[in-house]
Amino acid sequence: MQDMFDLTNKVAVITGCNTGLGQGMAVALAQAGADIVGVNRSDPSSTQALVKKQGRRFHSVIADMSKVETTKLVIDEAVTAFGKVDILVNNAGIIRRNDSIDFTEEDWDDVMDVNVKMVFFMSQAFAKQIIAQQSTGNIINIASMLSYQGGIRVPSYTSSKSGVLGLTRSMANEWAQHGINVNAIAPGYMATNNTQALRDDEGRSTEILGRIPAGRWGTPEDMAGPIVFLASEASRYVHGYTIAVDGGWLAR
Ligand code: NAP
Repeated sequence: MQDMFDLTNKVAVITGCNTGLGQGMAVALAQAGADIVGVNRSDPSSTQALVKKQGRRFHSVIADMSKVETTKLVIDEAVTAFGKVDILVNNAGIIRRNDSIDFTEEDWDDVMDVNVKMVFFMSQAFAKQIIAQQSTGNIINIASMLSYQGGIRVPSYTSSKSGVLGLTRSMANEWAQHGINVNAIAPGYMATNNTQALRDDEGRSTEILGRIPAGRWGTPEDMAGPIVFLASEASRYVHGYTIAVDGGWLAR
């Protein structure tokens, strides 16, 4: 049974892994045996050290995950470094908060570019490589509770993450025939930079904690089991599905 979750000799490309959920998932994939290609705009040395501690290799690619032209370069660099790719985790994401009535075009475009447009074009570059390699592959996108709910003061984030849920299904429909599993994880309210503003707001923080059945904010470590499952043979017949890792938020 353990073999089904074993990622030994697999190469995982993960975007935005210098911190937060991306770092947690990079470490989990390394613990399961994968070598990691970390794609970041900021210094990933703390993640690199954690991956190496697991006895796995870490190749750093410095790239801006808002520019479509970088997608092919990232995959090509991963292949040059480790010879192939097996797993893609589209984790890099941003959020902008403002009243919808005042929301700017810039805050709309910046968020949509990183959170959904790049998810598509990174996945496309990865899928082309998997087809060229004649191997199987696993794509895992990072969705959100706002793939299901409206949210407050985050119209572009909600639109982008709702888009990620649909895009996950859409890509799964076309690429299952090539041996590519496309799935997503929808994290609940997790303690990272992304939610610092919410956690700093005592009123909102109490309100949010009050409706999480598990009674706590999630952590990067809570992503470990689900990411290894969706990256491994254990999920070979799972396509186009989004798993909520939310302490029960959606069940409430
Ligand atoms: P985070 O700590 O802010 O991490 C976001 C990551 O994305 C960072 O590594 C960040 O790099 C990177 N990134 C953003 N824009 C980039 C760009 N243009 N180029 C390269 N990297 C870029 O937040 P997180 O919570 O771990 O978020 C990870 C993912 O989970 C995001 O997609 C987020 O939307 C999603 N999510 C988070 C929660 C939550 O409660 N925390 C809930 C649902 C979904 P820098 O460090 O350089 O900014």
